[in-house]
Amino acid sequence: MQRYSITQALCLPEYKIIGILSDSDQEMHLQIRPYKRKKAKCSGCGEYHYGQKIHSFKEVIVEDLRLFRKRVFLHVIKRRYRCVKDGRLYVEAVDWLKPRCRVTNRLAKEIYRLTSIATNQEAGWYLGMNDEKIYRIDKSCLKRD
Ligand SMILES: [Zn+2]
Repeated sequence: MQRYSITQALCLPEYKIIGILSDSDQEMHLQIRPYKRKKAKCSGCGEYHYGQKIHSFKEVIVEDLRLFRKRVFLHVIKRRYRCVKDGRLYVEAVDWLKPRCRVTNRLAKEIYRLTSIATNQEAGWYLGMNDEKIYRIDKSCLKRD
């Protein structure tokens, strides 16, 4: 699979695919990180701390919408900074990902639409996830903000 076509299909313009960790008939694992020019928003205070040095990195694994009929798992590298307001360390906030969610917002939205016409069990069968996971996604990631 061409990296260029995956980048196009993924449609996360501020992120760069830095590795295709695995790619089988069923699923694809992609490692991505923000472009250096992307400003990091502090998840502590919600502001941009310009000129702050990166303290460290944190990787989270989340599931995203299917691509090329495969399940997609993103290994997202987040930057960690010290907040100038309270001096604590925070990872950057990601617009398309809620904290502690195991799926991207756009997959959460699709699950939400699916569970409004089907049971969690049926939705789980369709998505290849167990219904407990669907239930947890429904509870934690679909609260409107
Ligand atoms: Zn801050």
